[in-house]
Amino acid sequence: MRRKSRTINSRAILSALVLISTILVLAAMVAGDEGMWPLSELPRLNLREKGLRMDQSLVYDPSKPSLLYAVVEVGATGSFISPEGLIITNHHVAFGSVVAASTPEKDYLKNGFLARTRAEEIPAPGRTARITESFQDVSARVLSVIKKNMSYADRTRAIEQQIKKIVAEAEKANPGKRAEVAEMFPGKTYWLFLYTVLKDIRLVYVPPLAIGNFGGEDDNWIWPRHTGDFTLMRAYVAPDGKPAEYNEQNVPYKPRTYLKINPDGAREGDFVFLLGYPGRTYRHLPASYIAYEQNVRMPAVADWYEWQINLMEEMSQAGREVALKHDSRIKGLANTMKNYRGKLAGLRRLNYLAQKRQEEAALQEFIQSDPKRRAVYGQVLPGLEKIYGDMGLEYPRVFVLENLRRSVILFQNAMTILEAAVERQKPDLERNAAYMDRNFNQTRQRLALGLHTNFYLPTDIAVFKELLKKALALPEGQKIEALSRLAASGSNLDEVVNNLFKSTRMSDSGFINGLWDKKPEEIRQVDDSLLRLANDLYPEYKKMEENNRARKGQLDELQARLVDIRQEFLGKQFIPDANGTLRLTFGRVEGYEPKDAVYYRPFTTVQGILEKTTGREPYDTPPALLQLISQKNFGRFVNPDLDTIPVCLLYSTDTTGGNSGSPIIDGDGRLVGVNFDRAWEATINDFTWSQRFSRSIGVDIRYVLWVMKEFAGAGHLLEEIGLK
Ligand code: ASP
Repeated sequence: MRRKSRTINSRAILSALVLISTILVLAAMVAGDEGMWPLSELPRLNLREKGLRMDQSLVYDPSKPSLLYAVVEVGATGSFISPEGLIITNHHVAFGSVVAASTPEKDYLKNGFLARTRAEEIPAPGRTARITESFQDVSARVLSVIKKNMSYADRTRAIEQQIKKIVAEAEKANPGKRAEVAEMFPGKTYWLFLYTVLKDIRLVYVPPLAIGNFGGEDDNWIWPRHTGDFTLMRAYVAPDGKPAEYNEQNVPYKPRTYLKINPDGAREGDFVFLLGYPGRTYRHLPASYIAYEQNVRMPAVADWYEWQINLMEEMSQAGREVALKHDSRIKGLANTMKNYRGKLAGLRRLNYLAQKRQEEAALQEFIQSDPKRRAVYGQVLPGLEKIYGDMGLEYPRVFVLENLRRSVILFQNAMTILEAAVERQKPDLERNAAYMDRNFNQTRQRLALGLHTNFYLPTDIAVFKELLKKALALPEGQKIEALSRLAASGSNLDEVVNNLFKSTRMSDSGFINGLWDKKPEEIRQVDDSLLRLANDLYPEYKKMEENNRARKGQLDELQARLVDIRQEFLGKQFIPDANGTLRLTFGRVEGYEPKDAVYYRPFTTVQGILEKTTGREPYDTPPALLQLISQKNFGRFVNPDLDTIPVCLLYSTDTTGGNSGSPIIDGDGRLVGVNFDRAWEATINDFTWSQRFSRSIGVDIRYVLWVMKEFAGAGHLLEEIGLK
């Protein structure tokens, strides 16, 4: 008896000890944390303390073949996973290229695509893969051009010029590399980045839409998720190893490093980190900016995108060929629309604007309490309030002008041609970026691709008409003269708009190609209705551009000061907002509580695919996949904790748009998944990060490998990435 109870006791003690040490280890392993860390800040981070098991210098150290070189920007993010230039990214990142390669007869978007040999890989024109090579602080040089008493517009112009000069010098000194200066803290800190840009990218494996986009827009930004949002591409270079445009003679690119895959994936509680190219966050901007976004811009854009989506879905009823013209656009619009709605809900849920205002009231008090501080910072918050207030008032007019260019493809073409003619008269460094020699080819290529992939005349006409109506409804004082004149030129809007689109050749690429080298006077002579309209509206766009420049000059000055004083006030050193440059973020695989009494576990499984499948889009799982799932044909890719195949996972990293396709990397530097989304409550990340709500969503590597092996029969690719 005694012995037994002693055994029980010692067992109990042992398990208590195990429990305590587990708790201690978990506590020591930091949960996720706010932070899209730029490479320059990595030394401030001790990743080994957080859970990294490899030498931190192997993540990033310019003198070593670090993991960093495995990460590429491909529209959003991707990473090399083989020595032969194989890249894994998201299905939704490659979407446009898949659409461009698809026809109703060869519908790769719907049915998926697998290249069985290298020769079968499909070129993805316009797609590039950019690798970060180095970075350098050039703030002093950029800011040295600011002179006292400069107007704000001149100040912005001077900085733009200086940046172009720095870029030109860097590209001259580093032939074959692409240089970009990124604004880290506007008005304060600027970094020069050098990139290698690979220009021949090909599609290798694309799952069918019903896997790659399973759940479609219903499930987008939502957990629990069952989307196999991955695609494989390959980068090619010239036989001498240099980046080159597509050519049959090109050979696969050999990356300095590539990610090894961990076919056992991650487990709940594991430390993970992501490297990627997050687009934009706005964490250092004031409450007045949040108010502008929350009350003015985001609701207007979300409504407008919803209107366009409805239109395009209706147009798409005409048949698969027409639907293919809209698929990519609808996807982009719907993604942003739902993201904005999520953010608006999140701002309300956190009562974020009120919180921010409260913080700023305390900050203002802190500023006022000291005469020196008051002199330097006293006008910062009121100044910003005024600017964002004005932007709100002007927004309806700006909305029409911006969206004419953004949403009406033929008008966009006309503006590009006219602007090219004007800008290309100027010395290279004085042109708008799109028309500088280093970018002009891309501008032309983008236009051609837009026409080929997305253009459908009835949609263009309907969108234009709607914007024209909005223009006519603008209040007095905001009217856009050229559009009012246009509307008055016929007896009704239908007639006016139909005539406008009847007398233009902006959809004819041959005609357009003949215009690229023309002078502005010659363009003005061309008998084309949309070119004429572009010409009439040109002064409006110029005015808006100049206005934005002046505003940016002022904002830069105020925002830089706001960052300084907030850092002092909060006793904290900030890291720059996301700006499209390479960042690292870390966290743990963990679930969350979206609302009272609800807990979301961090893995979904193939069982959930069965539960969601209805046979109708977007839940129309291919029968072959359903069969594999019901046969439990899981092989080695089972998650032992779940005893089945995991599909997606959740983790507490700090991500935003652009992080799509980011590799999810474990403590040993191996790939365990591919990031593709955030949970609904985490759409708020762009303004603020929250340990409770900020969860990113990725596709589990085990699902990727299983689909490739069992469903697609892509054993040759598994072999290439080192798995038999
Ligand atoms: N799904 C997202 C995107 O479209 C990724 C994210 O924003 O977290 O970019």
